[in-house]
Amino acid sequence: MIFLSITVHTFVIANEVPNNEKVTLWAIVVGILAIRIVDLGYWYLFLRTIDYNPTSAFTRFSLGLLFTSTGWGLYCYFLFYKLDLVTISSTLIISCAMACAAISSLSSSKRLCMIYSSIVIVPLSLLALTGEQYELSILGILGLCYWLVILFIAHKNCDIFASTIQLKQSNYQLVQELQSEKEVISKINNELSRSNEALDHANASLELEVSKRTADIHRLSNRDPLTGLMNRKGFLRLINKQISASQQMNNRFALLFIDLDGFKQINDSLGHQIGDGVLEEIAERLTRYSDIQNLGRWGGDEFVMLVPYANTDTAIAVAHATRSSIALPMEVMSNQVSLNATIGIALFPDHATDAQELIQLADLTMYDQKKSKPGSFGLFNEALYTKLQQDITYRDGLRNAITNNELTLVYQPLVHADDLSVWGFEALLRWTFNGKPVYPDNFIPLAEKTGLIIDIGMWVLHRACIDAEQWSSKTHTVSVNVSIIQLMDDGFVSTLDNVIQSSGIDPSRLHLEITESVFADNKKKIRAQIEAIKLRKVQISIDDFGTGFSSLSQLQSLSFDHIKIDRAFVQGLEEGSDTIIRATLLMAKEFNCVTVAEGIESLADATKLKSMGVNLLQGYYFSKPMPNSLLSDWLQKHQDRY
Ligand code: C2E
Ligand code: MG
Ligand code: MG
Repeated sequence: MIFLSITVHTFVIANEVPNNEKVTLWAIVVGILAIRIVDLGYWYLFLRTIDYNPTSAFTRFSLGLLFTSTGWGLYCYFLFYKLDLVTISSTLIISCAMACAAISSLSSSKRLCMIYSSIVIVPLSLLALTGEQYELSILGILGLCYWLVILFIAHKNCDIFASTIQLKQSNYQLVQELQSEKEVISKINNELSRSNEALDHANASLELEVSKRTADIHRLSNRDPLTGLMNRKGFLRLINKQISASQQMNNRFALLFIDLDGFKQINDSLGHQIGDGVLEEIAERLTRYSDIQNLGRWGGDEFVMLVPYANTDTAIAVAHATRSSIALPMEVMSNQVSLNATIGIALFPDHATDAQELIQLADLTMYDQKKSKPGSFGLFNEALYTKLQQDITYRDGLRNAITNNELTLVYQPLVHADDLSVWGFEALLRWTFNGKPVYPDNFIPLAEKTGLIIDIGMWVLHRACIDAEQWSSKTHTVSVNVSIIQLMDDGFVSTLDNVIQSSGIDPSRLHLEITESVFADNKKKIRAQIEAIKLRKVQISIDDFGTGFSSLSQLQSLSFDHIKIDRAFVQGLEEGSDTIIRATLLMAKEFNCVTVAEGIESLADATKLKSMGVNLLQGYYFSKPMPNSLLSDWLQKHQDRY
């Protein structure tokens, strides 16, 4: 602005001023301006983009401005008296315009703006005011007024500018802060999303692992590890599912309960490894007739098969094929093995609509079938149903039999074969239930199944020993039947001690009758129990000899006192079959055992058995079992008779 004004003034406006003075002043001002432009260029090129100390640059700028404006002031001062009114007026207008322009261009520094405005307006205005011409004085006053207005506006404008800059600065800071916050947030967000991704990934693999483990647990908890078939839990779940499906579709299904015959012997004689191999082979054979998903292993040698959509004929056909397949010889670890199976069949919904009940009925049918015809199959029927109902009633009744005083003992004599003198009595249990007698064959198996036999057996032992101690003859023995469940019970020997002590009986008068078939089981425990019994001088008889599966070597190794030949063989005598009795007698002689024949119903039987060498006889021929109260009468009569 100054450059333009001074140049126009020096070279365009013609007046009285000698050229050299104007040009000299012009040159000084332009020189200062040139220095300022160089300084500006320096700032523009080197300082603008770097972080520099603004104080010295500002000082240089301020000094440059002051020098320039002072140059203009001096220019006006020196030329004032040589200019005409019009030129002075226009010079004052230019000065005012320069001050006006400074308001905005120097708004960053109020002080600089005010000094600059004052230097360019005030000296010229004062010169005009003190001029001789009236018009000049007016011009001077106007100039000073204008200067005051400029100062006021500059004051305001600079404040506004400063606050705008401040605002801008704080805005800038705010934006910077926001920006850095945004950056921090986006960094955190990034990290969060990265951790989320990692978490998602970990979650996904955890879920996968959990579902894999759950599936494994489910599979293991529902499968039999040996055969891979379903276990009880899994099979029951399967039946329940099938029941719901069959109820919805209104169709039937059959349940086959398959029990192997002779598996125990294989296990005992060939070992458990071969036994396991046999079970695996049987499981494989079963899959030929049923989907593996419908097969289960119910217990040791018991398998279950579900046959969907089956009626009676289908179930029988499947049972027939399955049984035949099981009966085929197999080779397990170079051993030729043959066994058979007995199968019980129950149908849904014909026989039962509950999973547990269906299994129970099929099991019962199998059990019943095994008793009458092992190695065959049978279908659940009405008679079995009645028996089942009766079993349930008996089972409930048995629980209170002792407390209700419903149990009694009857005694059957055993006599010496040579002179028929009385050797002792066998205690036989009777149960009066709902006013009617129930025989042991009907309730002892039930008591064994429910475990009630432990308490009942204890009661029998106590009662029999107390009764025997009250008999007039203290030489007569008392024989008590002991079930395998009782014998295997850990508390049996201490019960025995208790009984001997509390009754005061001489232990050698007490005989325990143990059914032969039990010796096929858990030999180690039986041996230990028998040794403990023998240690107490109590005698042991093998009951129902010839009906079980005991091996000779086993019998030889256990020290028995008596062998009781089952009454079935005695009854066989009438049909002329005495081979088994003769063989038993030979064996007993070898083992040094006393022999007893049960079921003597005639004199002929008694005579024949005596001649064969049997030591003791028992049977209806001598007496039916009788209550304790009748024993002395009978004894009297018997002695009178013989
Ligand atoms: P067991 O020990 O073989 O008893 C002999 C069974 O044959 C008795 O049947 C007896 O009444 C019967 N009997 C005796 N002589 C003759 C005869 O000449 N002809 C016929 N047809 N039968 C005769 P009971 O009393 O019904 O006992 C059956 C089985 O119940 C017993 O067979 C025994 O194994 C078991 N038992 C009986 N009482 C008890 C007991 O207190 N505890 C246990 N655990 N079992 C018992
Ligand atoms: Mg007996
Ligand atoms: Mg017997």
